[in-house]
Parts: sequence; C-alpha cells; structure tokens
Amino acid sequence: MAEEKERPRTIEAVGTAPFEMALGPTWTRFFEGIKEEKIFGTRCKKCGRVLVPARPFCPRCFEPMEEWVEVAQEGTIVTWSYIDYTYFGLEDDMIPVVPATIKLDGTDTSWWGVIGGFDIKDFDLVAKKVKVGGRVKAVWRKEKRGCVQDIEYWKVIE
Ligand SMILES: [Zn+2]
Repeated sequence: MAEEKERPRTIEAVGTAPFEMALGPTWTRFFEGIKEEKIFGTRCKKCGRVLVPARPFCPRCFEPMEEWVEVAQEGTIVTWSYIDYTYFGLEDDMIPVVPATIKLDGTDTSWWGVIGGFDIKDFDLVAKKVKVGGRVKAVWRKEKRGCVQDIEYWKVIE
C-alpha cells in the first residue's frame, strides 16, 4: 500500500478584482438595443444563420456578420436547471433560480436566461411548468442598464 502523502498546507481567501470590460462596437450596439427592449442578432451572409447575441463574425464560417436582425422576444426552452443552494457569486436572495437556455424564434443559437414570474420556491410547480420545448417570452425591467439583466425573467407561455 502506497504511503499517504501529506496534504499541502492551504489558507482560504476570497479575492475580488473590479474591472471594466470594453464591449466593442457589436456588443455596444446589441446592448443599446436591449435598453430599448429590442433583441438583435446578426445574420451570416454565407450560412444564413442568425446568432444572438449579435456577433461580429460567424464562428462557423469566419465571415463578417454585418446584417442586423431584430429577433423575436419569444422562444423555446432548450435546457433548464434548478439551483436551490448558494455557491460562490450567488446571494441568498437569488436562490432558488431557474436558469435556462432559450432558442428565440427565427434564430440559430440558444441564449441564457432565467425563468420566473411564478413561485419558483415550489419545485413541483417549476417541474410542472418548465419543460424542454416549452415556450417563454421576455419580461423586461422598467429601469434598464443596457445589460442582459434588463430582461428580468422569461415568462412561461401556457
Ligand atoms: Zn456562417
């Protein structure tokens, strides 16, 4: 039997580093749209796919994506999860949360969002209402900051 190695000594610490991220022209235009309750994608002239959020180039064809398309604010749940415990970066009042990926109508990618608008503390109700393939629509915050959280949640369409 191998001799058990001694664990190295560690110290627990949490560090933070405030930073600003330059959005660049594509995401700047995308988030200006979000402020006006519009969701924009860009269409690839080669493969025809519409990607959301808007991208400066098609990651499949490497072609510039210069055609802007305002897309639907309704879509289909591709996958979802239920988080009922806190972990690094989440505050207690953010839990539970139902993150999902949503394929907006007329687009070719899934976008991240949070399902809400009903009592999500009731897991049985969540499991009943939230389905892969289920329909959702964007619900916007009144006060906007030009970021993805301007969509307060995605409401299940029944
Ligand atoms: Zn393409």
